[in-house]
Amino acid sequence: MTPAVKDRILALLSEHGVFADPEVVDYIATVDSPEDFCRRLLRAEDEPPLFLDMAVLKQLEDTVRRGSTKAEKAPPTRSPPEAEPEKMTEDIEGEAPPRTAGKGLMAPGFEPFAENIEPRVHVIKDITNRSTCEGTLKDFNVYFKNRYQKLKKLLRNRLEMRSSTSIEYAKDKNLAGEVKVIGIVSEVRTAPWGGVIIRVEDDTGEITATLGKDETAIKDEVVGLVGKLDDKGGRFGTRLRCKTLVRPGITTSREFKKADDPVYAMFISDIHLGSNTFLHRPWRNLIRWLNGHIDIQSDLVSRLKYIVINGDIVDGIGIYPNQEEELDIRDIYAQYEELARQLGDIPKHIQMIILPGNHDAVRPAEPQPTFPQEIRKLFPGNCTFVGNPSLFTIHGVEVLAYHGRSMDDTIPAMKLSYDRPIEVMEAMLHMRHLAPVYGERTPIAPEKNDTLVIESVPDIFVTGHLHKTDVKLYRNCLLIQASAWQSQTSFQKMMNLQPDPAKAVMVDLQTLSAKKLNFSDQQRT
Ligand code: FE
Ligand code: ZN
Repeated sequence: MTPAVKDRILALLSEHGVFADPEVVDYIATVDSPEDFCRRLLRAEDEPPLFLDMAVLKQLEDTVRRGSTKAEKAPPTRSPPEAEPEKMTEDIEGEAPPRTAGKGLMAPGFEPFAENIEPRVHVIKDITNRSTCEGTLKDFNVYFKNRYQKLKKLLRNRLEMRSSTSIEYAKDKNLAGEVKVIGIVSEVRTAPWGGVIIRVEDDTGEITATLGKDETAIKDEVVGLVGKLDDKGGRFGTRLRCKTLVRPGITTSREFKKADDPVYAMFISDIHLGSNTFLHRPWRNLIRWLNGHIDIQSDLVSRLKYIVINGDIVDGIGIYPNQEEELDIRDIYAQYEELARQLGDIPKHIQMIILPGNHDAVRPAEPQPTFPQEIRKLFPGNCTFVGNPSLFTIHGVEVLAYHGRSMDDTIPAMKLSYDRPIEVMEAMLHMRHLAPVYGERTPIAPEKNDTLVIESVPDIFVTGHLHKTDVKLYRNCLLIQASAWQSQTSFQKMMNLQPDPAKAVMVDLQTLSAKKLNFSDQQRT
């Protein structure tokens, strides 16, 4: 074997962002057509591993030798083969990096670029300390009126809806003409012929409308309807035969803001610390990488200035029946204490922005204010706490962070899938609302001001909660479903949901280009 072969293998691996054990490179160099073999290894899974040691290599090799591809693999209903024990992890435990005064866990000689850049976090919108509601019936009327008014304003900006009228006025009109109304959907049902019939109302009245083929609406969203009236005073009263259903949406032409320093932000979510399915080893990989102990993607870690942690930061207690059986830490305060210790190992020049999710110790009704002082005080100084949702800028780039509970309601209502979180996020942008469905699984507090309306489109929109990982640039808005640090729970198993944990999404704040990093210590199957 020649050194040139090894160089080419190393180049191939680093092209794919894979950090390999020298042993692995030696091994690959000995097989027939090593480069071909290496390429096949890299293609064996959806994403190549971040760390490739002999144990992981053997698993990939198995996949390659069986000749199975991703598409041919057994459906997720079958239990995956046992992963081999991880060598990489033992190494980590064996050589816990020493702490040095002022430098924490940072590797000797690790001098990140971002250390010399001042963090710039500016909170624009957050319910914390601004909650106004008591939850009375009157509050709900005020809340829905506010939701309607805000979304009506957005809809009126659309060309199709400029000349819209009130529902009462439209009903009185000459039935031959086209009518345009904006209303809040109060009812959705399927007609005997298979189409969808909705009832919409505004402050003057209500009307029943039949939607076009393949169109659907969900309860409590605000829509524009364009069509003609029929059924003059018949059994069903006046009906609007809807030709076009208009949603506020977002425009294609918006420009995103760019940071003036070449810094990166990392997006993660759903740490669920305290759960017995919390992924200790991948989490330690992450901490080591952040401290410069792993020589891979060094430019990214050097430029990393922000980490956004998108809720469910601990597993909580009493969130679901018999949760205590799945907890390693059974005290909520102790869960936060341990997380604070973990985050204390992240270099001090990296600014963290942290919001709560439905597992955290804050009020469950959304919008959720941030963590109480008794919890915040446990954490290091480089943590900024915000509510859920919140809108803030990091280095001038606007981020809308929402944990994502409402996706549990939007997915069934819009017939979307847990496997495609980005589509759910696109639907939220079309409706310009973070939690359109009221009265199902997502508790909503009837604030005077509906802060769940997406009034302005951010540069980055991030959710978590689904425990998946995905990124897409949609009309110049970067959509991120940020990964969890918890493996499949018994609940997810029961629901046949496959999480995609232990990833981090890295975003270049000057270009909004994004990259996924895989910190898992075993191959997904
Ligand atoms: Fe979660
Ligand atoms: Zn959640």
